[in-house]
Amino acid sequence: MEINLKVGVLTSGGDAPGMNAAIRAVVRAATHRNIEVIGIRRGYQGMIEGDFIKMDSACVSGIIQRGGTILQTARCMEFMAPEGRKKAYDQLNSFSINAVIVIGGDGSFTGASIMSREYDIPFIGIPGTIDNDLYGTDYTIGFDTALNTVVNAVDKIRDTASSHGRIFFVEVMGKEAGFIALQSGIACGAEGILIPEEKGQIEKLRKFLDERAKLKKSSIILVAEGEEEGGAIPIANKMKEEYPEFDIRTTILGHIQRGGTPSAVDRINASRMGVAAIEALIDDQKSIMIGIVNNEIVHVPLNKTVKLCKDVSRDMLAITDLLV
Ligand code: ATP
Repeated sequence: MEINLKVGVLTSGGDAPGMNAAIRAVVRAATHRNIEVIGIRRGYQGMIEGDFIKMDSACVSGIIQRGGTILQTARCMEFMAPEGRKKAYDQLNSFSINAVIVIGGDGSFTGASIMSREYDIPFIGIPGTIDNDLYGTDYTIGFDTALNTVVNAVDKIRDTASSHGRIFFVEVMGKEAGFIALQSGIACGAEGILIPEEKGQIEKLRKFLDERAKLKKSSIILVAEGEEEGGAIPIANKMKEEYPEFDIRTTILGHIQRGGTPSAVDRINASRMGVAAIEALIDDQKSIMIGIVNNEIVHVPLNKTVKLCKDVSRDMLAITDLLV
């Protein structure tokens, strides 16, 4: 059977470790089926500008272990308007690209979903974001690596915190989602975890500071940046005023969470999802995200994944109180 596909692949939104493994898998799986792959640099910005590069098996050698994305990424306002997407479509047409694989997060998939409704081009999404906040998949590429980065960093902070008997408020990424804070908090034995999904956590924190903090050598409070008080700095300042007897410090982990060598889990999931994206296109799928649920590959309609929200695990949240 002849396959009439010329596939564009891009990375968009925030970069995440493991994106390169996904690009590699897309290119290699396509090459095995004699499908041409064109790399689109700098996400939708590059699509609008026609910043395209032909990719083959050799050009993805030696990238599986590298963080970041060899195709680079961007946030592109122009793509949010119909005129921008028309320019992007014209560029795809002029290079005879007739399918696109988007490796990115919620915003990137919103753009893909809109464009696939406007133009007859199949878009396949591969979830690539450290936040793990996409509906329809247990994993997003980069989450596992980011989690391990946070755990390594907090273990170091714990050493100094316990030497001085300090309370550290450690801020991690997650403007709208607390997956990193919750799971790294469990892994680090944090004394408190503050996430955007839970309201009124400050009362629980006060209770901890009133009753338990004095009995501890040190305390680590993991704070997602989008938590209701506005992140680690405002909440630490408030607690410093209310509890002058404690030595309270703040650390913001910031962009180190995005970088670094991808973990084995991220490389494996990215490889599986990259291959599945090419298989989905061969099967004539349109406008879907590849996900992993219960360790199996699944297909989720793109419009569903962008409309619905994934909640943090309530089971995990429930056990945190029992572990302090
Ligand atoms: P991350 O979760 O890591 O931030 P993301 O994919 O959600 O990744 P965004 O910055 O939200 O990152 O989106 C990436 C790009 O997707 C935007 O710069 C824009 O080009 C496109 N995009 C986002 N929302 C829309 C939209 N409503 N319509 C069209 N395009 C969009």
